[in-house]
Amino acid sequence: MTIAAGRMGRILPSQTIAITQKARALKAEGRDVISLSAGEPDFDTPDFIKKAAIEAIERGETKYTDVAGTASLRQAVADRLNADFGLDYRAEEICVSTGGKQVIYNAMVATLNEGDEVVIPAPAWVSYPDIVQLADGKPVIVPTKAENGFRLTAEQLRAAITPKTRWLMLNSPCNPTGAAYSREELKALTDVLLEFPQIWVLTDDIYAKLTYDGREAYTVVQVESRLRDRTLTMNGVSKAYAMTGWRIGFAAAPVALIKELVKLQGQSTSNTCSIAQAAALAAVSGPQDFIKDMLSVYQARRDLVVEALSQVPGLSCSRPEGAFYVFVSVKDLLGRRLPSGHVLESDEDFAKALLDETGVAVVHGAAFLLPGYFRVSYATSTELLEEACRRIRAFCESLS
Ligand code: GLU
Repeated sequence: MTIAAGRMGRILPSQTIAITQKARALKAEGRDVISLSAGEPDFDTPDFIKKAAIEAIERGETKYTDVAGTASLRQAVADRLNADFGLDYRAEEICVSTGGKQVIYNAMVATLNEGDEVVIPAPAWVSYPDIVQLADGKPVIVPTKAENGFRLTAEQLRAAITPKTRWLMLNSPCNPTGAAYSREELKALTDVLLEFPQIWVLTDDIYAKLTYDGREAYTVVQVESRLRDRTLTMNGVSKAYAMTGWRIGFAAAPVALIKELVKLQGQSTSNTCSIAQAAALAAVSGPQDFIKDMLSVYQARRDLVVEALSQVPGLSCSRPEGAFYVFVSVKDLLGRRLPSGHVLESDEDFAKALLDETGVAVVHGAAFLLPGYFRVSYATSTELLEEACRRIRAFCESLS
C-alpha cells in the first residue's frame, strides 16, 4: 500500500526545484557546478529592506497578522500596482500570501470544480499545470510557436475555449521564454475573453518590472478595464526586489474572490511571515530606482548569453524582452551522440548529459511543457555566465 493519496499521482516534483537541488548537492560534494537552473536573482535584498525587517523584529511585530496581510501592506501593494499600471485597486482587494505560488494555489483550489478547464499557453512555468491538477482541474495546454515569439494568439485562445473553461493563465514577461506581450497583443486576447463572461484570467505579473530595451510590461486590467471584475492580478517581491526567500506574493482581485482566498488561507497557512511582510512594505513603498540598476546588469547578461549561445552550431534562440531567462532550441542536436556513444534523444537527455559532463545545470523545455529546448537563467554573475557558455559550446561541439 502506498502512503500517497490518489491526487499525488497527478503531480510531479517541481523540476525547477529538483534540478536546482541536484546542482546544489553536486556542489556540496565538491563538483565544479554552475547552476543556471534556478529562477532566482543573484543580487542581495537591498539594505533598506533588510533594515525594515530588523526594525519590525525589534518593535515586536512577531505576532499573527490578519490572514490577508497587515492593513499597511495591503494598502501599499494596492498603491504600488495602481502607480505602476494605472489601476484602482483598494486595500480590501489585496491578499498577501506565501509567494506567488500560494496565490495561484489558493485561486485554483478556491474556484475549480472537478473537470473545470484552465487554458495554459506553453511553454509555461512548471507549477501551473500541477497546481491545476491538484485542485481537480484540467490544464488545457496550448503550445505557442517560436515564430510568434512564443505568444498565444487570439485564434489559439478562441480554439482552446470550451463551455468548461474557467480560467486563462497568462504570464508576461514569460518564464521560461522572456516573451512580453505588447499592449496590442494583450488587447487581442482580452477582446476574445470579453465574449466569454464565464472565464476568469489569472495574470502572473511577477516579472513585470524586468523588461529590457525600454519596453514596458502590461497587465490585463490596464488594457481592458471591463475584465477587472474577473481578473486575478498576481505579483510579488521575489524577482524585482531580489526577495525570493522572504516568500511574499500578492493577489489583487474583486472582493468576492479575495474572501475565498482568505478563507482558504485561514485554514492552511494563515498570514505569511509578519517580518517578511514588514520587509515587503519597505520594498513596495520605498525607493524603486535600484531596480533600474539591476535591469541594466540583467540586460547586459541577456545579451552576453544570447550572443554566445546563438553562435554555437546546433543551438538557436531569440533575444527575450523580459524576465531573466533565455529559452534555447536544441532540436538540431537531438539524435547526436556523446563521445561515450550515448545518443541524445530528448531535451531532458541533453540537460542531464550537460550537467554530468560539464557541471552546467539548465532546465529542459519539456518541464515547461515545450520539448526541444532548454532554459538558461542568467540571474547569475557575468563571469559564471561566460564560463557556462564556454562549457555549453564545448559540449555541443563534442557531439557527433
Ligand atoms: N520560479 C522560479 C523558477 O522558475 C523558482 C523556482 C520555482 O519555484 O519554480 O525557477
